[in-house]
Amino acid sequence: MTALGMKPEVSIVIPVYNEEAGLANLFARLYPAMDKLGLPYEVIFINDGSRDNSVAILAEQYRKRPDVTRVVLFNGNYGQHMAILAGFEQTRGDIVITLDADLQNPPEEIHKLVAKMREGYDYVGSIRRKRQDSAWRTYASKAMNRLRERITNIHITDQGNMLRAYGRNVIDLVNQCGEVNTFVPALAYKFSRKPTEIVVEHEERAAGESKYSLYSLIRLNFDLMTGFSLVPLQLFSLMGMVLSLLSALLVVVLLVRRLFIGSEADGVFTLFAIAFFFMGVILFGIGLVGEYVGRIYQQVRARPRYVVATILQGIPGEKPDLEGVEKRQVAR
Ligand code: UDP
Ligand code: MG
Repeated sequence: MTALGMKPEVSIVIPVYNEEAGLANLFARLYPAMDKLGLPYEVIFINDGSRDNSVAILAEQYRKRPDVTRVVLFNGNYGQHMAILAGFEQTRGDIVITLDADLQNPPEEIHKLVAKMREGYDYVGSIRRKRQDSAWRTYASKAMNRLRERITNIHITDQGNMLRAYGRNVIDLVNQCGEVNTFVPALAYKFSRKPTEIVVEHEERAAGESKYSLYSLIRLNFDLMTGFSLVPLQLFSLMGMVLSLLSALLVVVLLVRRLFIGSEADGVFTLFAIAFFFMGVILFGIGLVGEYVGRIYQQVRARPRYVVATILQGIPGEKPDLEGVEKRQVAR
């Protein structure tokens, strides 16, 4: 348990979106696991615009354990990674650990991450011993893992797993980023000096259902690929070069044929097929360019990345400790 006002050593960051069914269970396992560590700690929940009863449940937990609990409430749904980033801005610990609210990452594994961080690493990723997700999710994410390994220089064995620990130096750098579409583990990996990975347990979602549809998973992977690599764009220009060379060759062949053998009326449909193929390629290219342009557009707009409606922290009735907050504001 933490003495009041003591600087926490470990900060736990948990994004929450419509998790009313599982939160009680999470508290029942997380707090005892943290108390057992015997370190000053803080748990920061970020409510990502839940439309269910999650806010009330989080506020209730905050009333029960205000010494170690802080709750950030968004005014809408900004996505898991934005929620984690908002949590990062609030952290004070030297070790910051992210966790899912659905108990797929057992809180009892946190001590392993802390122990590994103590060995001098500043990024501890984790690999699920036995993944408890649907078969297609497991397969799709393995395939995406492989592709990402190839086109970015980010080495994360198991990208779909959020149970990770980050050092203060990494968090401070992540906090300086103004990224809009991002993938937190990859961003943090880029800033880490000494990353490592450990194997952890993984459980089935305890309650509620996955917040990720096929569509948002595809979006997330686009964010990961285009946010951390230019290979998709470069690959495309390379492909365009090869294709235009080949089609130039085709024109020459047809021209020669016309001169010596005569024109071929029967080949019209072959030409159609080829033309359609190129049209497809061009459309794909436009889409890919659009990915990057869209990103530039979002960055240029420079909107606030999220709006925090309230922060529940400190002991109710007591003067809030604003020292850290003020310092951060001056630094900006
Ligand atoms: N989450 C969030 N905002 C969202 C979607 C998810 O904060 O828009 C949180 C969710 O409450 C959970 C974590 O992100 O704590 C992971 O979500 P989920 O378990 O649904 O993802 P999956 O395990 O299916 O990948
Ligand atoms: Mg989950």
